[in-house]
Parts: sequence; C-alpha cells; structure tokens
Amino acid sequence: MTNIAVLGSTGSIGVNTLEVASVSEGRFRPVALAAHSKTHLLLEQAQEFRPRSIVVTDPNAAARQDWSALPAETNLIVGDDGLAEIAASPDIETVVAAIVGSAGLQSTWAAVEAGKRIALANKETLVMAGSLVMRRARETGAKILPVDSEHSAVFQCLQAGGNQEIKRIVLTASGGPFRGFSQDQLTRVTVEQALKHPTWDMGPKITIDSATMMNKALEVVEARWLFDLRPELIEVVIHPQSVVHSMVEYIDGSVVAQLSPPDMKLPIQYALSYPERLAGISPKLNLASALRLDFEPADPERFPALELGHEAARSGGTTGAVLNAANEEAVKGFLAGELEFTEIVPVCRRIVENHTYDAQPTLEQLLQVDRWAREEVTRWVCI
Ligand code: NDP
Ligand code: MG
Repeated sequence: MTNIAVLGSTGSIGVNTLEVASVSEGRFRPVALAAHSKTHLLLEQAQEFRPRSIVVTDPNAAARQDWSALPAETNLIVGDDGLAEIAASPDIETVVAAIVGSAGLQSTWAAVEAGKRIALANKETLVMAGSLVMRRARETGAKILPVDSEHSAVFQCLQAGGNQEIKRIVLTASGGPFRGFSQDQLTRVTVEQALKHPTWDMGPKITIDSATMMNKALEVVEARWLFDLRPELIEVVIHPQSVVHSMVEYIDGSVVAQLSPPDMKLPIQYALSYPERLAGISPKLNLASALRLDFEPADPERFPALELGHEAARSGGTTGAVLNAANEEAVKGFLAGELEFTEIVPVCRRIVENHTYDAQPTLEQLLQVDRWAREEVTRWVCI
C-alpha cells in the first residue's frame, strides 16, 4: 500500500490518477488532494477517497464552497503554503505533481527536498529549473518518475541498453489539430479549433501548447534534464496516431519503441507502480485489427517552437524559465482573445532573446526571470 498526494487532483491528470487509484484495490491510497478553484469536484473526491488533508489554493474559491459535507476526518487547508506542506508530509510516500504551469514548481521542489518519490506530470518544473531540480533530487534521494507519455516511453525504452549505447532519442508528436495547415490557414485559427486535439483529451493549456508544438519544445527540454541527455541526441518526429509514444535508437541500429493507445492512465500507473507492472484499466492495443503507423519529419518552418525548445535545451541556465513563463502568458493572451495564434511563438522567441542570461541561476533568480518574462508579455499585449 502506497500513500499518495495528488497535487492538481481536479485536472485531467489528477482525475485520471484517482481513477487509477480507485481500481488499485487499496494499493495507491490518496491521502492528500490539492486543487485551485474546482472546489465542488474536490469535495466529491474527498467524499469518495476520505483523504487526511485537502488543499485549496484559491482562498476565494474555498470561501464560496459549502464544506459541511466534508468527511470529519479530512482536514481542509487553504492557501498556497498547503501544497508544500502536504508534498513534504511524512505520511506521504509518492507525490503526483499534476498542477499545470509554473504554479507547480514550489510544491514539486518541496517534494524533492523531502526526498519523495515524485510522479511528475508538471513538465514546466523541469523546463524552468531542470538542472537544479535533478541535482537536488540526487542529493536528497528523491526519485522522479515521468508521467508525460513520451518521457514514460523513453524511460521504458532506456531499460533496453546502457547510456553510452544511445544513438538518439526520438520524441513523437501528434502534430496537433493544425498539422496539415498552411501558414495562411494558421493565421486564422480560432480558440475553439485550437482546443480540439485530435488524439488526446487534456487540460486547456497543454492542448494549446500541442497546437503550437510548444508542448514538444517543452518536452525536449524536459527530456534533456530528466535523462541527462546531450540536447543534440533529442529529435522530434510527427506520428499522427499517437500510438508509438517515443523511441530510443541504440548505436547498433536497434530502435526500441513503446506502444499503447493514447490514454494517460498507463503512464500514470507506471510512474506509481514502477518497477512493477500492473494490469490496470488503461485500454490495450488490439493488434488483431488493422493498425497503421505513420511517421513524418517535423517541419521547423511551420512549427518554429521546436527550434526554440532545442535552443533552451542547449543553453540551459535561465532560458527555460523565460521560455516557459513567456509561453504561459502568451497562451493566456490567446485564450483571452488578446493575441493571435501565430503570435504565441514569436512573442516567446523575442522575450527569450531579450532576456539577461545567467548560466547558473538560483531558484530565486529563476522565479525573478519568470516574473520579468510575464511582464514583458503583458507589455507586448498592451502595445
Ligand atoms: P488541467 O488544467 O486539466 O489541471 C490543472 C490542475 O492544476 C487542476 O487541478 C487545477 O485546479 C490545478 N491548478 C491550476 N492552477 C493552479 C494554481 N495556481 N495553484 C495550484 N493548483 C493549480 O491540466 P492537465 O491535467 O492537463 O495538466 C497538468 C500537468 O500535466 C501540466 O503540467 C501538463 O503539461 C502535464 N501533462 C498533462 C497531460 C494530459 O494528458 N493532460 C499529458 C502530459 C503532461 P482547479 O481545476 O481546481 O482550478
Ligand atoms: Mg507529452
């Protein structure tokens, strides 16, 4: 039996995690849950799982909710500090980091400091502070297991060979809803179109990131830190069916891939159960019916985010934090109708190029450049 804390329990990854837990016959026990604003759903989750603590980070949302139906044994904590408190709590063995965006950094850091096992969905933590987080995890004994499907695939494929034998890592990308669009068509896409992903059902921020391919750019940076890879070994290929989740090519020419239907319950469960595998409830591939797998090169002209991701992986330092913050704000701007779809990536490039680079930043400096980059996007939107 493993006690888990699910940070971001009301989101897409959080809900899938609780589904995995509910069929695990008590093997994964959610003893702490955290959400930002969906207090009604959080209350329902608390009634079902009867955790010891729940955290609501938005005080206004917490104040609006009637908590009279909260189980007597569940302690309600309001405010951001509650995240780090439950992430480091001695009764928690595994922290599922499923908050979206840089809001997930400090609680993931607290889990790293406390030497926890971390099922990491919040890729933004590694994009912002991958070097610091991985170094600190080595010092404290924290174990970071990827939930992101591509990184879970790479993690599984890496078990087939040694680090010195890796020729390249190939991250697959569905290409999002605009894979076949011309530059002209891209200039006219709407928020509604961008929120419809062809193969994955995810939260709004990562869905927009998939449409711009910034998601894959962030994943290049994530892979660079998570697996301590030289950035030039990481490639991206378009694979519209989202069945091959990523591949590792070894020096002898063998390419090892991980395949499964596009469903996050499998990588979530593997991050929780590793090194064991469980039957679980994720859908299984039906190889008795026709299965077509297509691969095509990623077009860097049409999706300039990719090069930005490689640049951030190469330069390290403050670049990832600036790219991540600029992108989060630009996506907010697009969702609010203040920025065009095709402006998101150029805004990010401009802000990355104009920032004052530091090769060895502290966590505090990373938070400072994060704030600076957000203000720059706001200024851009106002011009
Ligand atoms: P969602 O938007 O569906 O959920 C986000 C969760 O974070 C919600 O529980 C939300 O609370 C909470 N949250 C939002 N803002 C804050 C804040 N300021 N402080 C504390 N909690 C906050 O996102 P996803 O589940 O799609 O994504 C979560 C993470 O997983 C992201 O980093 C994403 O990149 C990564 N990921 C997601 C995949 C997917 O399939 N969805 C696949 C691979 C990676 P509330 O809803 O109560 O407001
Ligand atoms: Mg992914």
